Amino acid sequence: MPFQFDNTYLKLDKGLFSIINPTEVNDPNLALFNTALANQLGLDITELDEQTLADYFSGNKLIDGSQPIAQAYAGHQFGHFNKLGDGRAILLGEHITSDGNRFDIQLKGSGITPYSRRGDGRATLSSMLREYVISESMFFLGIPTTRSLAVVSTGENIYREGALPGAVLTRIAASHIRVGTFQYVRNFHSKEVLQEFTSYTIQRHYPELLSAENPALALLKTVMNEQIKLIVNWMRVGFIHGVMNTDNTSIAGETIDYGPCAFMNVYNPKTVFSSIDQDGRYAFDNQPNIALWNITRLAEALLPLIDNNTDNAIEKAKNILETFQLQFNEIWLAMMRKKLGITDIQEEDELLISSLLDWMHLNKADYTNTFIQLSVPDFSISEIYTQKTFITWLTNWKKRINAGKEIPETALELMQSCNPVYIPRNHTVEAALKLAQKKGDLTLFNQLLKILSKPYDYQDMNHFYQAAPQQDEECYKTYCGT
Ligand code: AMP
Ligand code: MG
Repeated sequence: MPFQFDNTYLKLDKGLFSIINPTEVNDPNLALFNTALANQLGLDITELDEQTLADYFSGNKLIDGSQPIAQAYAGHQFGHFNKLGDGRAILLGEHITSDGNRFDIQLKGSGITPYSRRGDGRATLSSMLREYVISESMFFLGIPTTRSLAVVSTGENIYREGALPGAVLTRIAASHIRVGTFQYVRNFHSKEVLQEFTSYTIQRHYPELLSAENPALALLKTVMNEQIKLIVNWMRVGFIHGVMNTDNTSIAGETIDYGPCAFMNVYNPKTVFSSIDQDGRYAFDNQPNIALWNITRLAEALLPLIDNNTDNAIEKAKNILETFQLQFNEIWLAMMRKKLGITDIQEEDELLISSLLDWMHLNKADYTNTFIQLSVPDFSISEIYTQKTFITWLTNWKKRINAGKEIPETALELMQSCNPVYIPRNHTVEAALKLAQKKGDLTLFNQLLKILSKPYDYQDMNHFYQAAPQQDEECYKTYCGT
């Protein structure tokens, strides 16, 4: 298997990981392989047959040069601090592409590790297919994300709400370093290890910060900025992560850990899909607050490196954290202006934006389709857009973008480059997964993947994949650890 491994994580303090191999599975079968991603990674697999790929990407056969480990980390889960770690994942190694980029190659669902606690170390076929389709969709939407290289079914049943087929996913990430990894090092290791780990992380993700006056502080600021950009991107497409715990917050700024995530249909800022998120901690519009909460935990972990004097360290960290809200608002506003095809800045834009969102909320309008309707007036996927209240808003908006009969070309281009035509809608994803899990039939799943690989294709609209679900989706629920 043609990976170019260079496994630097093993050179870190031995307390940060455990050396462990994947557990063999009964009967590995390749369900999905992402050839386009393999090409981007520079992997030439033309000589390898399906069974060999299934052996490698189930963990049954170790790839040359891999040095499997499970990474230790901690995290605040729904606000509560826990010692965690890769309980069902194994890092095979870091692959270097020909242009020098480094990627973690990780198997997820690959068996028990020292961090499994009471878990079985496994994952269901359905949830790994779900991570595959949603992470790939995020990539094509232009949002930083981990990616999915392969799904291999294991031929073994695992037990969740009954017996379900198991699978292993191969996840590709800039790294799996999380806010929770810093919390782990800060809480359970010395300041020297924290210093070494921080330098390692900066060198790996933000080498330009090595020469900063205060690298730890610069790291905090940069990670915060990356989170702001990421969450604004999520809000652009109606994505709800669902489990924004600190252990699911990547230092590299990628979307990571596709568990209970889902895309919003009807616009409601309080939307929650996760079965265990009873208080709406991770609701659509609470995501920026939680990002700040998570970054504050990172700041706490970095304090000893920011300044030897704790009070000074807190002061310096606070000065950065205090800029979050203003920065977020600015970037969010810029994003919303783009969604409306607005190219310059006017004060009243905020009112124009909020009145559209209010209208959507009040009238239970679909978030994605409303923005399509603006640039494609004959889209007409719903009667709702003939409402007088909507037409009034439309008139104001048209005035704002100097539209006559036609919408100006620049506005059209802007809108159609950031308002997706296709998102992975829960009901279409569920239908595809059901067929895959019950009958092993991936036809619908592959069709969906194909559609989602061109999310901004306004030339080729397909109402089947654009339609909002029939009934209100309030009863749609997602689950952790499946
Ligand atoms: P998550 O909510 O998916 O981010 O997972 C939180 C923690 O639980 C992580 O440390 C996971 O490795 C662990 N975990 C989740 N599912 C399992 C499982 N089936 N077996 C062992 N550990 C698990
Ligand atoms: Mg996680």
